[in-house]
Amino acid sequence: PAFDELGLSDEMLRAIENLGYTAPTPVQAGSIPVVLEGRDLLAAAQTGTGKTAAFLLPTMNNLEHIAPPKPVRERGGRNRRRGAKKPEGNGRGPVMLVITPTRELAQQIDEVAGKIADVTGHVAVTVVGGVSYKPQTAALKYGCDILVATPGRLVDLIEQGACHLDEVKVLVLDEADRMLDMGFLPAVRRIVRETPAERQTLLFSATLDEEAVGEITDLVSDPARVEI
Ligand code: AMP
Repeated sequence: PAFDELGLSDEMLRAIENLGYTAPTPVQAGSIPVVLEGRDLLAAAQTGTGKTAAFLLPTMNNLEHIAPPKPVRERGGRNRRRGAKKPEGNGRGPVMLVITPTRELAQQIDEVAGKIADVTGHVAVTVVGGVSYKPQTAALKYGCDILVATPGRLVDLIEQGACHLDEVKVLVLDEADRMLDMGFLPAVRRIVRETPAERQTLLFSATLDEEAVGEITDLVSDPARVEI
């Protein structure tokens, strides 16, 4: 199938043009229709298969905006009209949370989410370990629609009271097998406990074998399965 046969909005088709993709990869063709319907998902897909867009396109297609819109960056380097007031934060969100094992993966997801958000206007924030807390807590205080996070830093921010997950509608567990290999099971459980039970949950892993992800498949409910 082509991207315009998967049920995506015209806006999302423009975002796909902005990404430069012309045809969906197999994991995208399999995942996009079922995620658009709101179903939970178990997907077996390695890095390099297009899994990032497989979860970002259909979720962002359906995602409400609750953070204050970011000021439009004007040509010439000025951030806003002379005299225009900086938008006030509202501290709300995220409505979508992506947890991923490493800083590098978080940055890759952030890049794709940012290109889609250029079209949709969503506000995306990324929090990872090894860097200072201040810009992260400030970004969360402003408000965000999408939060991309590594598990350890996110638990720290939750425990500091800097991050609230009670508005999460969509949870993505990226490279779930690697997160478990790296010992993040307690952190993942701690994070998921902060999210509402009635969320949509998508789990991506290189393999869906019981030994790889069996410890967390209870987090999805009546999932569609995509294996390529
Ligand atoms: P991922 O598996 O998400 O890490 O993506 C692997 C690479 O494939 C990234 O560089 C993406 O930009 C690229 N990619 C993802 N989807 C498509 C597509 N439909 N067409 C062309 N390139 C894509």
